[in-house]
Amino acid sequence: MKIGKSRILLFALCLALATLFGAVTAASAADLRIGILIYKYDDTYISTVRNALNKALEGKAEITMQDGKGDQATQNDQLDVLIERQVDGLIVNMVDAQAAAGVVNKIKAAGIPVVFFNREPDLNVLKTYDKAVFVGTNAADAGKMQGDIIKELWTSNPAFDLNKDGKFQYVMFKGEPDNPEAIARTEFSVSQAVENGVKLEQVGETFVCNWDTALAQQAMESALAANEGKIELVIANNDSMAMGAIAALSNIGYNVEGGNKLIPVIGVDATDQAVDAINKGVMSATVKQDGQAMGNAVAEITLNMISGKAPLEGTNHKYDASGIAVRIPYAPFVKK
Ligand code: CA
Repeated sequence: MKIGKSRILLFALCLALATLFGAVTAASAADLRIGILIYKYDDTYISTVRNALNKALEGKAEITMQDGKGDQATQNDQLDVLIERQVDGLIVNMVDAQAAAGVVNKIKAAGIPVVFFNREPDLNVLKTYDKAVFVGTNAADAGKMQGDIIKELWTSNPAFDLNKDGKFQYVMFKGEPDNPEAIARTEFSVSQAVENGVKLEQVGETFVCNWDTALAQQAMESALAANEGKIELVIANNDSMAMGAIAALSNIGYNVEGGNKLIPVIGVDATDQAVDAINKGVMSATVKQDGQAMGNAVAEITLNMISGKAPLEGTNHKYDASGIAVRIPYAPFVKK
């Protein structure tokens, strides 16, 4: 009897504690703090990811989002502050993916779960920390889809071969010299088109324009000044640079809405501006990088990790062969 009574008491105590604990847990879930570091706000595609993140985390966590302004030293300082504030989770869009080792070490020392996205660090660096996951795309796929689009354009419209030499003369706009996405898109767009049987010939050097509209416009203006009439195709690693090329073309009467002179321009991202340009007929195609799906995946995985669950638990995502990276698929986008 005596033992039975104390057992009941113990049970009651446990129940009380569990209730209390439950209440505390529920309260702290609302108080979750997530620090988000963005490589730069002034990037159209990243803006769609930011919006998706804000929406997906609304009411679930308090967000501190910081603009790295394209400067890794700035981002490092922002990281230090967030670690000092002991945020519960971190989401990092590296300025310089090659600086990931230092960043991972700091986060690891603080024991904060982290999801890197978009700009891909060396996954072997990420593997040194068991609370790190990467969400990106398969960069080669974007290039290959551009290559398939090139084949479509080439076979569907013989008029694109301005000099009738049976070759597609192109200019290439590359995002950054050492960025893995930029390298893969540049390489696979061309190799896929060639594999598809299109004879390609590059005009001028590859223009490295930092993913930027204004820089691409300048480069295209110079290219046109030297080679007007010799450029038959524009391949760009992203839509922002594609828009710059279109601005330069439209200044001399090409790619104007309702006009009759069109140099096909292909980008990547399917930004609002690019979709608009495609629908107006001044841009030929893009490859959709689904920023919303990316933002949702990053938010879902971060919340899982903070609550101590396996990163992909209860999600529709799967790791690629690396075992720590999730790839959001691309899709081609042409005028409907
Ligand atoms: Ca030609």
